[in-house]
Amino acid sequence: MQHFDLCYRIEGTNEYIAPQLLPIEENKLADIPSAGAIMFWVDYTFMPAGLITRLIARMSRHIRAPHVWRTGVTLEWEEGTIAEVTEHQLTHEIVIRINGVERKRRLAEIRKTLYDLHEDFRGLKFEELVSCNCVDCQKGGNVTTFELLELEDNAAHGDEMICRNGNRKRIAARDVLEGISYEDKPRIFISYAHRNEELKNEFRTMIRPMEKEGHWKVWDDRWLLPGDIWNREILKHLDEANVIVLMLTKEFFASEYIYDVELSRAIKRHEQGDAMVIGIVVSDCLWEKTPLCKILILPKDALAVEKHPHKDEVWKSAAKTIEETINIWQGKQGRKGGW
Ligand SMILES: [Zn+2]
Repeated sequence: MQHFDLCYRIEGTNEYIAPQLLPIEENKLADIPSAGAIMFWVDYTFMPAGLITRLIARMSRHIRAPHVWRTGVTLEWEEGTIAEVTEHQLTHEIVIRINGVERKRRLAEIRKTLYDLHEDFRGLKFEELVSCNCVDCQKGGNVTTFELLELEDNAAHGDEMICRNGNRKRIAARDVLEGISYEDKPRIFISYAHRNEELKNEFRTMIRPMEKEGHWKVWDDRWLLPGDIWNREILKHLDEANVIVLMLTKEFFASEYIYDVELSRAIKRHEQGDAMVIGIVVSDCLWEKTPLCKILILPKDALAVEKHPHKDEVWKSAAKTIEETINIWQGKQGRKGGW
């Protein structure tokens, strides 16, 4: 049932909720601060029924309970970003109001979820609009809206837009666009035992060109800074990763922190479809006796990298597989073969 976005589970319970049966009455959270907020509209020529309920089901982990109703929801993320997403049948639009430190990134997340849902409806036509972010519009009043396509076109040519809130002030299209753009590079998290640092570094060196070229961002816990609360930083990056690479060795499985925290979290995100977990058998270990038997394991022959006569070839093919995984993830190419 969950796969069809018809219902979602309340975290930590066995209770399921079907969003289309939620109460009709709006239950908005009153305190989304308007200063600095982004307003975003998706205007449909024809709006299919059930978009918002599916969005609610897909983003259910972020629902700020009890602020959810049949045509809208308040979402909240751990860093405190808050969004209100509402559906308006009469005006054929979905309206997003969002504020908080990560508003650009979370807006991109909501839009991506929505556009993924669009795939089920062929030939859907819509326009996207965004609020002006000039000083006057930040204060509220008669906020000017810009069509996203026009904004992008003007920004590309270094042109200005005209804000109609007050005295037809000119504002650089680039500045407005900058207020909502979020560069969403795939994020790779490397989980490894510190005793295998050298092997981890070999792999990092191999994938460095892709990192340099901006294909993806890589994080491992050597990026921790003095003063960071390490556990919190690790979990934050683990939760934000699109791809989680596990450097499988016996030390990896012997580490209690990795086994109990990183591994179980990674598997959970993999099962929820939020992240892709890839295991690289670096040295001999009993990975097949662990919950990892369900994930993609490299090298394909499962011969430990350390024992491989051509170690660099294995790292290289692992890098390639990760790249392919990300491309599939981003929908750039179809899955090879299969059905
Ligand atoms: Zn303005």
